[in-house]
Amino acid sequence: MKWQGRRQSTNVEDRRGTKLSGTAIGGGLGGGALVIIIILVLVLKFCSGGDLPQIPNSTNPTTESTYQATEEEEELAQFVSVVFAETEDVWTELFAKEGMEYIYPGLVLYTGYVESACGTASSATGPFYCPGDQKVYIDLSFYEELQKDFGAPGDFAMAYVIAHEVGHHIQTILGIMDDVTAIQSRVSETEANEYSVRLELQADYFAGVWAHYINRMNLLEQGDIEEALNAASAVGDDRIQKQSQGYVVPDSFTHGTSEQRQRWFYKGFESGTIEDGDTFNTDDL
Ligand SMILES: [Zn+2]
Repeated sequence: MKWQGRRQSTNVEDRRGTKLSGTAIGGGLGGGALVIIIILVLVLKFCSGGDLPQIPNSTNPTTESTYQATEEEEELAQFVSVVFAETEDVWTELFAKEGMEYIYPGLVLYTGYVESACGTASSATGPFYCPGDQKVYIDLSFYEELQKDFGAPGDFAMAYVIAHEVGHHIQTILGIMDDVTAIQSRVSETEANEYSVRLELQADYFAGVWAHYINRMNLLEQGDIEEALNAASAVGDDRIQKQSQGYVVPDSFTHGTSEQRQRWFYKGFESGTIEDGDTFNTDDL
């Protein structure tokens, strides 16, 4: 994708290198040391009249990270931020066409573990969207995982993953997510899983819709769509299934087969409309 020099999203929260409460100081040094540190900080603060430089507080993580990323990772962070900005622009326009206002989601970059309104997640979960705080969470190491573990290399494979998660945001602000969650709570597990598959395939469809407009803007490069299709296939069904505790929409649930995921992505890519993506009322899932 031609992304260099394009606008980066201002809705990116960089939490890389941030330690979680309890795991940081408590876990690393032990409770006793924690108490000593707190007393020491308080005493020093008292003596210096409160002008001490802020010691990073694990319960109140700052977004100013001292995290040292490699040059490669920094470029990836910029790429992801541009992709996110492009989803903002495309969806703002599509929503405007329908007379609606697009509410921007957030994007949280993290390393290792992260706290979300959907609970604590680790990078083993894979990228996910949390409807509770309307944020997409991603550990950038997933890019390497895509290449090595899923055999889905290429920048547009990563772009597809982001666009898919944004697809869940679209579902959330359109009310689809709530409707489906309500239905899922009163049907059998098998039926609930089927609804999950329909949700996932629709998110793939929305990712395709986004790619449709990226293509229109001449931002696609040779092989980009193949990269996305390959990634859609690679993350088919249980490929990302690891841990999923506490999520309203677990991305580790069944996602549909590789064939289905490719087909719905491509359908969105060809159509470019919201309407054609009704995966809930179709005999041809
Ligand atoms: Zn998903």
